[in-house]
Amino acid sequence: MKVFLNPGHAPGGHPDPGAVNSESGLRECDVALAVGQSAESYLNAAGVATELLQSDSLEEICEASNASDADIFVSIHCNAAEAEEANGTETWACAGSYRGSMLASCIQNQIVDALDTKDRGVKIATPGVNGLYVLTNTDMPAVLV
Ligand SMILES: [Zn+2]
Repeated sequence: MKVFLNPGHAPGGHPDPGAVNSESGLRECDVALAVGQSAESYLNAAGVATELLQSDSLEEICEASNASDADIFVSIHCNAAEAEEANGTETWACAGSYRGSMLASCIQNQIVDALDTKDRGVKIATPGVNGLYVLTNTDMPAVLV
């Protein structure tokens, strides 16, 4: 079993840090990397092989994951919004991917149970409508958390 982990946005925040807290300066790229490295440690301790790549190039991420013989792909993000009522956990899978949707449900339930976050549910990304590049262009079951 091998998991490809993709912390979202650019390493070091250049050029794209993702969401940034205007008061604290906390950047999504740093949080996603920390979460990805933590997940990698847990997976490795459980005997699961991993590959982790944070890159500003979505093409590079998809090429690396498709060449990695990973069984699943997990992209990690931490969205932000001004509205306080916008909070919780959601996990995206690609339309038409049954195994991706199953994986999304498993991860979604684990996070909501472990962190007691608001369950925003599993979302389906449809290529050409609201598709997400890394879900559309990876060969294995893929999710964006
Ligand atoms: Zn993001």
